[in-house]
Amino acid sequence: MHGLRAGVGWDLGGTKLDGVWVDSRGRIRGSEIQELPLDRSLGGLGAFFEELDAKLVGPRLRPRVSGLSVAAVVEGPEAKATHAPNLPALRGRALVPWLERRLGRRFVVVNDANAGAEVERRLGRGEGDFLYVILGTGIGGAWVLDGKVYPGRYGSAGEIGHVYAGPPDRPCGCGLRGCLETQAGGRGLGEIATEALGPRRSRAGGRADRPWTAKELLLLAEEGHPRARVLRDKAGGVLGRALASLMNATGVERVVIDGRLLVGAPGYARAIQRAWSEQLIAPLAGRARWMRARPFPHRMAYGAWSLAQPDAPRPAGSPG
Ligand SMILES: [Zn+2]
Repeated sequence: MHGLRAGVGWDLGGTKLDGVWVDSRGRIRGSEIQELPLDRSLGGLGAFFEELDAKLVGPRLRPRVSGLSVAAVVEGPEAKATHAPNLPALRGRALVPWLERRLGRRFVVVNDANAGAEVERRLGRGEGDFLYVILGTGIGGAWVLDGKVYPGRYGSAGEIGHVYAGPPDRPCGCGLRGCLETQAGGRGLGEIATEALGPRRSRAGGRADRPWTAKELLLLAEEGHPRARVLRDKAGGVLGRALASLMNATGVERVVIDGRLLVGAPGYARAIQRAWSEQLIAPLAGRARWMRARPFPHRMAYGAWSLAQPDAPRPAGSPG
């Protein structure tokens, strides 16, 4: 890799702020990560960001590029956050002017799934098109087309968590019903488990009964629990068929799957893949490729650094 600019990449997620300092050869030279403060107002987040940025950059380093990945759909050159369910203070805010005012230098702001996909692209996992999928609390995604992250005109391309997967009974954080992530994302799967299995029993003297998390369900399924396996395989089936449908419709021939929901739960990945391969039609059937994302430290922050490079595709809506 050459022609890169040293600088910083940040990832502002729903629970933490993660940053890396990357040199001009693309190597991570320093990092800072912290849980978000209790005060998650715009002012609270800004002050917190300033403090952690000063720690990462210090008085000597001069970032040539600065990127921020954020758990939000961001639109236009000013990165107006149009959809930010986990960071409500950002909603409707133009993030580029906000950051530039607080930190005193230029920033490029991108959606976090796009940053995650950018890392796979930069790692050189083959030329061509792919759909990047990230399974966490919800389901995020990004398209990489002709070797570039494609955010779409309004920054919302790849929002696959809100593909309709029916039936329309489960309300989604986006305001709709029947979205894919209500059936196969972390939050949705936890709710499904609690409905089917009842609340988790507390141990004697422990906390009160509480809902299941998706990870608990998936680990129980790994142990062979029959009802947990049925729930897991059903969710995997819905997700796998949706992913195949998206690829059938676009002709994108590769899917790269990522996310903490899959850690320790290979059976979930297998259930998704099985349904996916059954749902592909010609010419993709038997030819489309399924890949797991490479483990990568500070993925979203690094992707933000990479997307802040001058040769990177401009954020949605930017001129030129
Ligand atoms: Zn939705």
